[in-house]
Amino acid sequence: MTLVPLYGHDALQRRLAETTRRGALPASLLLHGPVGVGKQRLGLWLAQLLLCHDVAPPCGRCQSCRYALTLAHPDLHWVFPGPRPKDGEPTEEDRAAAIADRMSNGGLYAPPPGSEAIYVGAVRSILRAAAMSPALGRRKVFVIGDAERMAPQDGAETAANAFLKLLEEPLADTTIVLTSSVPGSLLPTIRSRVVAVRVPYVVDDAVRAFVRDPAVAKLLEDREVPSDVEALIRLAGGAPGTLLAQADASTALARADRLFEAATRPRAADRYALALSAGAAKARGSFSETLDALAATVHRRTRQAVDAGQPGRALSLSTTLDAVNRSTLLAAANVNPQLITASLLGEMAEALDE
Ligand SMILES: [Zn+2]
Repeated sequence: MTLVPLYGHDALQRRLAETTRRGALPASLLLHGPVGVGKQRLGLWLAQLLLCHDVAPPCGRCQSCRYALTLAHPDLHWVFPGPRPKDGEPTEEDRAAAIADRMSNGGLYAPPPGSEAIYVGAVRSILRAAAMSPALGRRKVFVIGDAERMAPQDGAETAANAFLKLLEEPLADTTIVLTSSVPGSLLPTIRSRVVAVRVPYVVDDAVRAFVRDPAVAKLLEDREVPSDVEALIRLAGGAPGTLLAQADASTALARADRLFEAATRPRAADRYALALSAGAAKARGSFSETLDALAATVHRRTRQAVDAGQPGRALSLSTTLDAVNRSTLLAAANVNPQLITASLLGEMAEALDE
């Protein structure tokens, strides 16, 4: 699979290409703008442009472009928040898996859950890669998404300082592109070392092209979003990436409903089968969202039980909330979602049965 193309930002693309041609592109850039306008995709496009071998980059045809478009380019490094690593540092395999995960959707993704960050292991890998010569071309490009999530960590001051130095005195063959939708949350020491470029909302025509892209259409197909293109454009409001987040939120709610329904089944095997069929116990990121949605669902039902004069029912519902909250903690600690689901359903079923 290749990356879904960058839709929109034509003027900005021309400006960045022209600045690059003049050799005037700053070595450390910050692309900032609203959530979902395509800042990281624009960063990857810029990386492709910088790495392309053609006289009119990015040509889209040369070896370098082909590698960049499949994220297989050894000189293109895409870094973004991930879950807290179990044993201190994410491994290269963890990072490769995260890239493969995004790549399986053409590079599209919903915003990472709030618990995810760019941990020091990722910063160290940036430093290591920056210190090496480019593998294929003349330069290396780092695209660092949601850069405000670079978490300062105890004992990691050396890596943090080395990163600041890299931003401030970039190597001649290195370009660093940070992106952020909350640039005010960036560490001031980082913000003062990058040239900020504002990425605006995209025009409706570009959103239309985006939702009609086969890879995007396929992704939205089985989610709970309007199927009508014009309704999707209104929903996107110039930030097509938000459609993925909204799709995820409504998918999480639907999954939470199925989980709750599963918990009311008397037989454990039935409960578990229903939970699995709802995809409720899948992928860590979306599992956390499902649990958040489940907590909201239980709250709502508890209120309804109180309003309906059923205090006993309200009490057993509020007991299940404890189990949901415990599960959320376990999910944040990287415990396997299917294990959590099995024990959560058992506890919920017991509480609801009383
Ligand atoms: Zn090319």
